[in-house]
Amino acid sequence: MAAAADLAEIDRRYSFHPFTALADHERDGPSMVITGGKGSTLTDASGRDYIDAMAGLWCVNVGYGRTELADAMRDQAAQLSYCHAFSSMSSDKPALLAEKLIGMAPVPMSKVFFGNSGSDANDTQVKLVWYYNNARGKPGKKKIIARQRGYHGVTVMSGGMTGLPGLHAGFDLPLPFVKHVMAPRKLWEGHGLSDAEFVAKLVDDLEQTIAREGADTIGAMIAEPLMGAGGVLAPPPGYYPAIQAVLRRHDILLIADEVICGFGRLGDMFGTTTMGMEPDLITVAKGLTSAYFPLSACIVSEKVWRVIADEGSKAYGAFGHGYTYSSHPVGAAAALANLQLIEEEQMLGKVRSTGAHLQAKLREAFADHPLVGEVRGQALIGAVEFVKSKDGGPVGFDPALKVAPRIVKGALARGVIGRALPNADSVAFSPPFIITEAEVEKAVGAFRDAADEVLGELR
Ligand code: PLP
Repeated sequence: MAAAADLAEIDRRYSFHPFTALADHERDGPSMVITGGKGSTLTDASGRDYIDAMAGLWCVNVGYGRTELADAMRDQAAQLSYCHAFSSMSSDKPALLAEKLIGMAPVPMSKVFFGNSGSDANDTQVKLVWYYNNARGKPGKKKIIARQRGYHGVTVMSGGMTGLPGLHAGFDLPLPFVKHVMAPRKLWEGHGLSDAEFVAKLVDDLEQTIAREGADTIGAMIAEPLMGAGGVLAPPPGYYPAIQAVLRRHDILLIADEVICGFGRLGDMFGTTTMGMEPDLITVAKGLTSAYFPLSACIVSEKVWRVIADEGSKAYGAFGHGYTYSSHPVGAAAALANLQLIEEEQMLGKVRSTGAHLQAKLREAFADHPLVGEVRGQALIGAVEFVKSKDGGPVGFDPALKVAPRIVKGALARGVIGRALPNADSVAFSPPFIITEAEVEKAVGAFRDAADEVLGELR
């Protein structure tokens, strides 16, 4: 293996990275080169260990280095490394995984379609919504309602549904048929309101958007049960029942984007259950394989399925959509092994107990800090938002100060990996389900020390 400095130089010279300041990377190279992972710990090329308090990108739920998953993938690759799924071709593991997903789905569901990433799965969901509405003779219902600060991926359609300006700039997004409504962000949009008043405000915003656009032009709304990258934002109680009543009244489908919440992050197998959602379509990715293999799935209700299968087939013939890697057998083997581990090791119980510890420690460390606007989260996902002042309503720091990125950098120097969220001075935590309470305390402590250092510099 090349030395750490050589690897960094190779990377600097030959690659460019997602969500990275390109010119900085070309000049400075990577901040570290990771070469190993075990449990909740990553190791870099120089042998230094870090607690990964983000489980990669909210995804390595069962932790790094699980031989059960590695063995399942190796055995599958040796037995059947690839099989496409076009023209009714089938292989064993994807069929079994689809059966498993329908059996465990949080609301009655009918069929599963596999993809490679959260982004492409959400693109598929939009195509399903369009196909469904075309097939049932409502071709005008094309627009998609998404939420400001929502994160649904980066492909042309999913990147448009994502409600973060940094993902639109320079890319001509969002496309005109995406309409964003208000995020359930209590600190800002709901400041000074009771939960019931805030729900009413959010519902009113949705109603007004539908009235403005026309219900006969809107196909679906997409929502994460709890918003991840946009700020770790849980909706106020009563939000989804109220939103869903509006959608049903206007014949608008609901897509639950479970890419982060799915498979246990909130302490239930699905965020849909935690938040009382009744989606027509569900997107899963990340936690489906704990990121051991790129695999996503669109889980489709009977209501949508019957129309696309019966009317769609009559009108358009064979379903003209799919990827080379749809239903990849190695991915399906990884997912089956991953779901087995989650069940056998009763990881949902771990998420609830370690999650309660994380939430308590975050509040203990940050809640009464004068520059903390809000500590929020649920189970094993949390965030701390920093503000310049909060009396009489929140006032943010000048974005040029880069408060959250500096705190994340300070925590990294202390051996803990967290994440600064875009367009908000928030740092996020979303550790592997198997993180220990001692590791949680170390991670929170490192962030508190880093925050004290950065906020001290700003005084
Ligand atoms: N949906 C949600 C809720 C996500 O958090 C993400 C990624 O973070 C995506 C979709 C996109 O997934 P991917 O990066 O696999 O395309």
